[in-house]
Amino acid sequence: MQKHNFNAGPSILPREVIEKTAQAILDYNGSGLSLMEISHRAKDFQPVVDEARALFKELLQIPDGYSVLFLGGGASLEFCMVPYNFLEHKAAYLNTGTWAKKAIKEAKGFGEVVEVASSADANYTFIPKDYTVPADADYFHITTNNTIFGTELKADPDVNVPLVGDMSSDIFSRPVDVSKYICIYGGAQKNLAPSGVTFVIVKDDALGKVSRPIPTMLNYKTHVDAGSMFNTPPVVPIYAALQTLRWIKAQGGIPEMQRRAEERASLLYGEIDRNKLFQGTAAQEDRSRMNICFVMAPEYKELEAEFLAFATERGMVGIKGHRSVGGFRASCYNALPLSSVQALVDCMQEFERKH
Ligand SMILES: *Cc1c(COP(=O)(O)O)cnc(C)c1O
Repeated sequence: MQKHNFNAGPSILPREVIEKTAQAILDYNGSGLSLMEISHRAKDFQPVVDEARALFKELLQIPDGYSVLFLGGGASLEFCMVPYNFLEHKAAYLNTGTWAKKAIKEAKGFGEVVEVASSADANYTFIPKDYTVPADADYFHITTNNTIFGTELKADPDVNVPLVGDMSSDIFSRPVDVSKYICIYGGAQKNLAPSGVTFVIVKDDALGKVSRPIPTMLNYKTHVDAGSMFNTPPVVPIYAALQTLRWIKAQGGIPEMQRRAEERASLLYGEIDRNKLFQGTAAQEDRSRMNICFVMAPEYKELEAEFLAFATERGMVGIKGHRSVGGFRASCYNALPLSSVQALVDCMQEFERKH
């Protein structure tokens, strides 16, 4: 049976990315060696990093003066590296979910942290919009897509301080005005590559401004100067990321990824809103295009386990909701074909006819 992969992360990748990476693991560029056996400093690996960096810049239209890094540690390590490198006196954070909260917790060890707004009291079902960012903040941190709660900031906010964005789960799904940011980061395992690599886009002249000493490995400057090769980078995930970046470009780049994201989301939200058995959990205007959360309507609550089994039998994978929301979550990342969303919608309609 065909599987429809709605996993939240690690998650679906384009089939050709998996095949090309598998091929390189068996025999890298006809060298008779595996991608897993070569030096990261080998002359035929350097072009992989160079091309991945160049494609990041090209696809996201990153202006001059920014560096693109491929690091280890996950987005979670960035929660600490960001304040380490940028927080001198005060930083502002928007509390929109579990990941934002974790970022806030880490920052508190480095200086004053102002939580400008929070939707915690509403179980993060919306993105707060009425807030003021202190003009003397070193940066304003946002989580552009809240993977767990299914809300998304669909545009880069206009504020009077530079932005820092956790884009783990919506990178390459919409255009970004990178010039508003001093740092954009994310774990690659949602939209780009297998787990193990973290992408970081950093504004070069925003570095070196804090007075504290920074441990070598946690200093962005180390990795900027060494071109992400200060120590051994995650070779296999970077290779896979390059294949995804090439795939994105060949498909038509970010405009096409955005078009597909909107097409998938409108199909699935349309069904959630139409089908009497289900209802969405996030506020309409903040609904994520990447992680679509829904629950059984109150009068059908007892059908939840039955629908999960019903959908699983029909090839749906990874649709059980996160424990903090319950119900269901269909993650619809860039590589997910519309046909998988259609299969889920068919399943919801068939289930409705049954009840
Ligand atoms: C998954 C996720 C993280 C955590 O990423 P790790 O790479 O596992 O540390 C952080 N932020 C967001 C928005 C995520 O979706």
